[in-house]
Amino acid sequence: MKDVLVIGGGLAGWRAAEAAVKAGASVALAANGAGNSPDIHALNVPVRDDDSVERFMDDTVKSGRGACDHALVETLCRGSIALAGEFPFDRNPDGSYKLLQPLGCSVPRCVSIDHKIGTWALTKIKRELAGKVDVIQGRVTNLFYSSQPSTLSFQLGDRDAVGAARSVVIATGGWCGKYAFSDNPPELRGDGIDMAVRLGAATRDMDAVQYEPTVALAPEKLRGMPVITTMLYDGATFRNRDGEEFLADKHANKDEISRAIFAEVEAGRGVDGGVWLDATGVPHEILETTYIDTVRRYAAAGVDISSEPMLVAPAPHTSLGGLVIDTRCRVLRADGFPIPGLFAAGEVTGGIHGKNRIGGNAGTEVLVFGRIAGESSAAYANGAKQCAV
Ligand SMILES: Cc1cc2nc3c(=O)[nH]c(=O)nc-3n(C[C@H](O)[C@H](O)[C@H](O)COP(=O)(O)OP(=O)(O)OC[C@H]3O[C@@H](n4cnc5c(N)ncnc54)[C@H](O)[C@@H]3O)c2cc1C
Repeated sequence: MKDVLVIGGGLAGWRAAEAAVKAGASVALAANGAGNSPDIHALNVPVRDDDSVERFMDDTVKSGRGACDHALVETLCRGSIALAGEFPFDRNPDGSYKLLQPLGCSVPRCVSIDHKIGTWALTKIKRELAGKVDVIQGRVTNLFYSSQPSTLSFQLGDRDAVGAARSVVIATGGWCGKYAFSDNPPELRGDGIDMAVRLGAATRDMDAVQYEPTVALAPEKLRGMPVITTMLYDGATFRNRDGEEFLADKHANKDEISRAIFAEVEAGRGVDGGVWLDATGVPHEILETTYIDTVRRYAAAGVDISSEPMLVAPAPHTSLGGLVIDTRCRVLRADGFPIPGLFAAGEVTGGIHGKNRIGGNAGTEVLVFGRIAGESSAAYANGAKQCAV
């Protein structure tokens, strides 16, 4: 029997596995896909002189529309500081950090490594853990307590129980893969929430889904690909069917932009259910550096975004609600008591982002809370072993 079973092979899951192994636990990780984490482009860390943990907290709470759990927000923002010492984030020639300003951030705060921090971090962690974690390929369908105390057993697919662990970290991501038009892969359907609820877990904000305002509708080859919204700060604009610009407010949040696009479409001024995102006003040197991935992907599909607009529409992108956890990532019941041996981190949880997430905060969340979940589950398993002696 393993000390810790992690369910989920995204960054929250691998980060939890990393922390649990460092704490001396034996770990298995089960996953049925890569999830959204390889797509994480950048994440928030308050590294500028005029930024601070308090400012970061303030932005996060304001964006959350009054629905954030303040203790979790504080853990997120304080925990982010250590990431600057841990990761070699990209810098400018003068030594300052290369930063993007996501919608909802009052200052540029988004750091990255070659625009691919998610893939970079996953590759690094998997390399370091090679041979130290048992990786199980497959969909976990059930979790239940075995007759032995402090043991959670799990089933893969429709097979009977295939393994057991002293503690479990649920890191199964969100449920936006259930929607027909989404930028999420279909394996993200909320399984972890179902399994935890069957063990008595409470959920929150299950009506809160963040739409990515700018997801490619066409060309077919790119359908479902998100187009990064920071472009709006760099001169991109929205245009309707008649070529009229709308939503001039560059500081609008993602939910406000999505609503504005839907309003335009409902008023009959849309194009095939979407609108034009026009990046022809973004300076050439910025397109060719900051947005080079987008430029290349459109070019490969026959569209030159320096001279042609992109057809986009809002699509479900991140589920914001989910399992109720405390700052130690313990999964809580409705009465506030933790469920023995059950921990969770990442998009499967609720409370951090409230009803609207700032771009870049999910990447910070999975690194900060994934580590906490790994440490907490290893400590729990250790305690369970001591009790059994
Ligand atoms: C296109 C795109 C771009 C994004 N870019 C950014 C960005 O730049 N910055 C940012 O902060 N956020 C970004 N996000 C959001 C961010 O990617 C996610 O919130 C984050 O990756 C969630 O990480 P996670 O580890 O919780 O879940 P995921 O990375 O989604 O991983 C979930 C894992 O659980 C597995 N799983 C699910 N169910 C089961 C099951 N029953 N059994 C076994 N395994 C299971 C999945 O296969 C997967 O391995 C982006 C999202 C998308 C869709």
